[in-house]
Amino acid sequence: MNVADEVFELFARQGAAAYYGEAVSITEHALQTAFFAQAEAAPPALVVAALLHDIGHFVQDAPVDIADWIADARHEEVGGLWLAERFAPQISEPVRLHVPAKRYLCATDPAYLALLSPASVHTLALQGGPMSEREVALFEAESFHRQAVRVRRWDDRGKIPGLATPALADYRAMIDMAARRAPP
Ligand code: FE
Repeated sequence: MNVADEVFELFARQGAAAYYGEAVSITEHALQTAFFAQAEAAPPALVVAALLHDIGHFVQDAPVDIADWIADARHEEVGGLWLAERFAPQISEPVRLHVPAKRYLCATDPAYLALLSPASVHTLALQGGPMSEREVALFEAESFHRQAVRVRRWDDRGKIPGLATPALADYRAMIDMAARRAPP
């Protein structure tokens, strides 16, 4: 199966569910995150990363109701691994780092916490809270930490009920271009 087909099947099966604790579906949230990436003229790899940043929720089981989350499901690790098998690090790494990016911004940008939705504040505690000074230094040593921070900021904005965006199918060519060639 082609990677784009694989992605679209995951969205078709699970994307209509509400995005954990938010007023948009998972698919709407993904499309809005990619929409904000394109609005800033991000390179195609980063638009694909934005679109697929929560793919980890599709490939693991997490409780549907955010209030039931007693431990973080580490969807960024699962998603990062899934993407690393199919795409270059320009795509998988910002996804793997998009939750640490939230903890990073909470530690380094005083205005950031006020931007988070209630559900996102709830998961922050489960994710370990703001980074320590040492964690900030380690995060800044990651090759793709800047890209992860950009994905994170689009992610935080992509929760607007009814916002008009391109459709999932409009990203097929971009996903095809970004996907690794199948191994011989
Ligand atoms: Fe997200």
